[in-house]
This record gives sequence, C-alpha cells and structure tokens, in this order.
Amino acid sequence: MLMRLKQGLFHQANITMLKNDTSNAITTVRTVSDLRNILKIWRNNKLTVGLVPTMGALHDGHFSLIKRSLSLSDRTIVTLFVNPKQFGSNEDFDTYPTDELSDIKALENLSVDVIFAPSTEEMYPTGNITNISIPDIGDLLEGAFRPGFFDAVATVVCKLFMISSPDFAFFGEKDYQQLLIIEKMVQDLNIPTEIVGCPIIRSKDGLALSSRNVYLSEKDRLVAPLLYKILNEILDDAKNGEELKKTLNNAKMNLLNSGFTQIDYLKICDKKYLTELNNFSFDARILGAAWIGNTRLIDNIRVN
Ligand code: AMP
Repeated sequence: MLMRLKQGLFHQANITMLKNDTSNAITTVRTVSDLRNILKIWRNNKLTVGLVPTMGALHDGHFSLIKRSLSLSDRTIVTLFVNPKQFGSNEDFDTYPTDELSDIKALENLSVDVIFAPSTEEMYPTGNITNISIPDIGDLLEGAFRPGFFDAVATVVCKLFMISSPDFAFFGEKDYQQLLIIEKMVQDLNIPTEIVGCPIIRSKDGLALSSRNVYLSEKDRLVAPLLYKILNEILDDAKNGEELKKTLNNAKMNLLNSGFTQIDYLKICDKKYLTELNNFSFDARILGAAWIGNTRLIDNIRVN
C-alpha cells in the first residue's frame, strides 16, 4: 500500500526516490508543496504522522527519537535542515557537520517514510520572517549565552509544524530547555501536536551523544565525559544536604582543573520553569554548559 502511495506521488511531485525497487525505498522531499502532497494522501487515509526535526549528522540520539516515532505514528517524517538563523555570527554554522548521503542511508535502514530536507531558500523564501519568541524561559541558561537562539529554534519548529501538522513531534531531553520551550509554544499557540520528550542517549563513558562531539580532539574526548560525572556528583552532594552554592562552586573548580576551559553555567533549576533553586528539591533538573577549547558541551540530568 505504502509503495503504491509512494509510486503515485512520484509522478505528482519532484521527489527523489533513493531506491525505487524495494520496499524500504525512501522519499526525500525538498519542497513544502511536495511534502504537503504526501501529507494529503496520508491524511485521506487517516494515518497519524510523527515529525522528528534534526539538523542531520545523525547519531544514536537521533535514532532513538526516530524509533519512538516509528512505534507511535503510522508515518514518520525526519527533517534534515541546518537552520542558519539559530547560529550566532561567532558560531559554527559554516563548519557544522553534514553528511546527507549517510543520513539518508541510515534513515532508509530505519524504514522512515519521508525525509524533508529543504534548502534555506525554501524555508525562508522572503528572508526575514515573523518571529516566535518565548519569554522568560527562553532568556535563561542557553538563552543568556546565545541571544536569539531560542527565537530561531521556536520559529523554525513552528514553521515545520505549520508545514506538516504532525500528530506527534519528538525532541530529546539532551536539549532540555529546548524541549520545554517547544512544549510552551505548543500550549500557548494551541498547536494540536503532542510533544514527546525522549531520554538522553550517551556513550558508554557517559558523554551525551551530539553531532558536535566530532569537534573534540582525542585528548579532549577523554575529558568530555567529566561533565556528566560532575552533574551526578552535584546531585549526590545536594541529596546529602550539602550547601548548593558550595557544591556548584566545587564542581566548577573540578571541571576547570580537569581540562574544561570555561563554564558557561552549572545550575540546579526548577524542572518546569528553569529558575535557579537555592534549596534542593526533587522538582529540579541539573544543567550545565562548558567549553573544552573551541567545543561547547551541554548536558543535564533529572533528579530522582
Ligand atoms: P539536533 O540535530 O542536534 O538539532 O538534534 C535533533 C534532536 O535530537 C533534538 O530534539 C535533540 O534534543 C535530539 N538529540 C540530540 N542528541 C541527543 C541525544 N544524545 N539523546 C537524545 N536526543 C538527542
């Protein structure tokens, strides 16, 4: 049935079929109108749709979101779009890792239904566009260090939602603040999409998987897992009744003495509003962002 739908669409739209002879053929769509043509057919067939927005350079963290979507939704769309608007002028847009061919192959192996990989011009045909801004929570933590970042993220995610009207959309707790912001946006704007948060996937040594980990030198890669270790030590100390300020200061010193070169923040925050807590609570999340040389790592852990 799916193949018939896909073959039918192939005539209607300018759609690339990576394989056109086997059952796990994948459809890569470059334009909004082509994607909407496919969605129309799915909707007519009463199929539910899951959306997994990514910037590509896919790894097991992304795959966990995709697998969740495949299990919850009748059809899954994965987006590959490195959104230029969410990179500051001093950030790594020009060097952000991309490997579309290997991403497509991996998505094909997972039997994803459609890849949406638009150009920047397709996503922003008029250049500057209406901006979605999420106050308060968007100004804290990452927002304080990357001005405009969450506006750009919320705006592009909102556009993807308007384009595809997904029943479900999947986001990783790796970007915990982003997940909360998207949940807030969906609630505030009455967007009828269920946001599904997915746990952080880590390497064996604890480092949270990230497309940017490829920037780490061999030596820095050995240092990097310490961020996760320190977050857990903070949790243990906090649970044992240590004074939070002292605990966090010690943790920062430990990171700096072990090869991290700068700490942007290391905080215990309310898990819903991300306001910093002065006293330990089980309604907390512990979050950190720190640099090793030119590579910035973020991580967080839940409190339980
Ligand atoms: P990105 O391609 O980095 O924009 O990430 C796309 C989605 O994958 C976001 O929802 C991220 O939170 C999620 N993600 C990235 N890394 C991980 C990870 N290690 N574990 C779980 N989700 C992740």
